[in-house]
Amino acid sequence: MSNHNSLVVADAMVVRLDYTLTLTDGDVYDSSADSGPLEILQGQGQIIAGLEEALYGMAVGEEKDVVVTPDYAYGEYDPDAVQLLPKDVFPPDMELEPGMAIDLYDEEADEEVEAYVAEIQRDGVLIDFNHPLAGETLTFHVKIVGLRPATPEEIDHGHVHGSEHYH
Ligand code: ZN
Repeated sequence: MSNHNSLVVADAMVVRLDYTLTLTDGDVYDSSADSGPLEILQGQGQIIAGLEEALYGMAVGEEKDVVVTPDYAYGEYDPDAVQLLPKDVFPPDMELEPGMAIDLYDEEADEEVEAYVAEIQRDGVLIDFNHPLAGETLTFHVKIVGLRPATPEEIDHGHVHGSEHYH
């Protein structure tokens, strides 16, 4: 057996994977069929913990189903993380729709946070700061389509240097 064929997913490996994410109601939420394979540097927390953990030891061509509970995905749904904002905090020409993602500036944390429009109400806009997949148990079908050791520079930077992001 050649060294190449015996490669398996481990820390500091660049992993290319095809995936389909299905929710418990059977809806396909996301798939690499639309976006192309995902490429990650294993061990850097670039994908949700429950999925990254399940990839260890897999070889190219191997595929499996991985069920990830909210604890190891996007957390439980927090009913308190919902806020009614006055309509005038949004630009007047912004067309708000339920489900729409918006970037808001959190003054306390001094950072941009992504939130979602939950509902347009008469006296304001109900904004949900939960991730849209909070509380969901996720089923991934994954297939490893590529595997190589990361370069020292990639390990140093903590990310993959693809053709688009070389630096
Ligand atoms: Zn880099």
